[in-house]
Order: sequence, then structure tokens, then C-alpha cells
Amino acid sequence: MAKNYYDILGVSKNASADEIKSAYRGLAKKYHPDINKEPGAAEKFKEINEAYEVLSDPTKKSNYDNYGSATGPNPNDFFGGANGGAGGFGGGFGFGGLDDLFNMFSGGFGGKRNSTKVNGEDINVKMNLTFEEAVFGCTKEINVTKIENCEKCNGTGAKNGTKYTTCPECNGAGSVTYTENTILGRVVRTGICKSCNGTGRKIIEKCENCNGDGYNKVTKTVSIKVPAGIDNDQILTMTGGGNAGIRGGRNGDLHIYVSVKDHKLFDRDGYDLNLKVYVPFYTLINGGEVEIPLTKGTTTIKIPELTQSNTIFKLKGKGIKNLNSNSYGNINVTIVGEAPKSLSKDAKQLIDKLKETLNDDNFSRYKNYVKDLKDLK
Ligand SMILES: [Zn+2]
Ligand SMILES: [Zn+2]
Repeated sequence: MAKNYYDILGVSKNASADEIKSAYRGLAKKYHPDINKEPGAAEKFKEINEAYEVLSDPTKKSNYDNYGSATGPNPNDFFGGANGGAGGFGGGFGFGGLDDLFNMFSGGFGGKRNSTKVNGEDINVKMNLTFEEAVFGCTKEINVTKIENCEKCNGTGAKNGTKYTTCPECNGAGSVTYTENTILGRVVRTGICKSCNGTGRKIIEKCENCNGDGYNKVTKTVSIKVPAGIDNDQILTMTGGGNAGIRGGRNGDLHIYVSVKDHKLFDRDGYDLNLKVYVPFYTLINGGEVEIPLTKGTTTIKIPELTQSNTIFKLKGKGIKNLNSNSYGNINVTIVGEAPKSLSKDAKQLIDKLKETLNDDNFSRYKNYVKDLKDLK
């Protein structure tokens, strides 16, 4: 059977919402683990919260009253949910949840936070490269606007980095204790000293270069060494090249998103370059030469006599240098025959004459196709 939440809170079944709330407050204060160190107190505290979570919510309360569970007729759902325990209690109560309640206390007792360092954020920039710049690598200058620690005051914000004194508010501790009224009574909390932002120091005379901030927003020209072989959509990261960390925090990183302009003819595939070249159909038959681009300059490839359309010529090692090694990709040239778009009467007669001299065995792939097609029928 489900636990009796009314018993747990020590109220009757007819208790009003105010009575339930008041009973809960009293018990929560009594059994809070930071206050009550007796064995079983934490368990009891959890139980109290579980009961209050249900009885403070009209829908859950009604389900509980009618079915003995907060979620309605299926008790299994309820036990699953209840074991989660701390989950979402916060029905019109002022706290976000039990976690907040714990945080409030753990912050209040013994929590000496004297570090106010802030890590710098990462910066993302885009860098456009030509095809050649990506293939051969280059050094590229880009402008980056970022936060940098002030050089004049070494990031202290005090003139010359020396014009400061101990913060009178916290006596140099960087943290102060203060009391706060909460539903659980007066709570002593320790927090960062707002007067000195937790540094424990008070600036007497501000650094003129950064107006006492200790940092400035500056636009810097950054020289980027782009490695040969980089490809579109790859990211170069300069560790620590982002915004500077404040008060000793670590610097962010600079991420450079690479965008490479397409080559007019090549299709890049990893470190390989693919190229499709259309040649007049007679070049395939009688052979010939075709000029082919390289990453730098051009070369000529020989098309042998009777080359089939779609034959791939592989130029080994003429592709792109591997980013991480000294090996190179290939240039793969696919040669495709192009039929004429128009034909003179004479030309057509010559082709017909040629047709007569070529028997079917010359076109074995076509012959096989016709045979296969016949078999299908
Ligand atoms: Zn202070
Ligand atoms: Zn400064």
C-alpha cells in the first residue's frame, strides 16, 4: 500500500491547504539534513517532501484521495515516480524544486567561494579559401574581434597593476556572510563580495587603458597557417585563441570554419580529384591526346585506339596531399565519347559504310544485352 501522506505530515484528511503547508514547513525545517544530523533525518525529509508534493497539488491530492496514488488508477506509475523523490516539487511554493532547497543550504554553510574567474568564450570565424590555397596550404590573415586582458595593468584593472588596496567590505577575503529570511527561517549564507567582485581588492586608481575592467575588446589580425590538403567544412582550432579568461580563467579557443571554393573542373573527393572529360567519339576509336589539368599546370594523356567510353585514367599521386602524411591522392579522369549533334549527308553515308564493315562481334556488350532482353520475353 502507498504511504499515508496525511500521517507523514501529521494532518487530518480534512486539513486545509494552509494547514498542510504550515505542517510541511515545520517538518521540513526540523528534518532538513543540513540542520538535523540524526540518523534517518534525511530519509524523513525526503518522505515529507514526497507527501507535500502530492498533498499540495490539487490534482495529485484528488488522485491520492480516490485511488491511493498521485497519478491516478495505476499505482505502479506512482511508485516509479515517487522513488524519483526529489523530482518536481514546486507547486506554487516559491522554490524551483528540492535541489534548489539543498543548494540554498549548501551555499549557506561552509561554502567558501572566493574564485570569480571566468573562462573566456570560444570564438567562431569563417575563412574562405581558393581551391589552390586549400590544396597547397597558405598563411592567411584574418581579423578577430575578441576580449583580451589589458596589457597596461596585467588584467588587474588598477593603474599600472598596482594601485589597489584591500577591499574594506570583505577585508580581502573576497566573500561575505549575510543572513537571509527564507521559509525555513533565517539562513546564514556566504557569497561573493559584491564590492570587489570576489577579488578581495579595491582599486584606488583605475587603469586608463581598460577603464578598470582589466580587459578590452580588441580587433586583432591573426595569422593562420593553413595546412596543405584542408577541405571544405573542416575546422582549424587555435587553442587559447578565443576570448581571454577573466581573473585567471582560461582562454577560449578560436575555431576557424573553412570554406573552400569549388574548382571549375575538378570534383574533390577526399584527397582524390575526379574529372569527366567528353571527347569526340572518333578519339575513342582512333585514339588521340587530351590535355588534362593538374593541381598546378596541365598534362597530356594518351587515349589509345579503341578505348571504351567511361574508361577511367588514373593519374597516381597527382591529387591532393594528405593533411596528416606525405602521401597524395589521385586524379581520376573519366573519358566519355561525345556523339556529333548534326551530321552531313556525306558523313552519314560514311558511317553507314563503316557499319557494314563492322560485324556484331565488335559490340559484345550490346549483343549480350539484346540476348538478355530476348530471354526476358
Ligand atoms: Zn570585497
Ligand atoms: Zn588596464
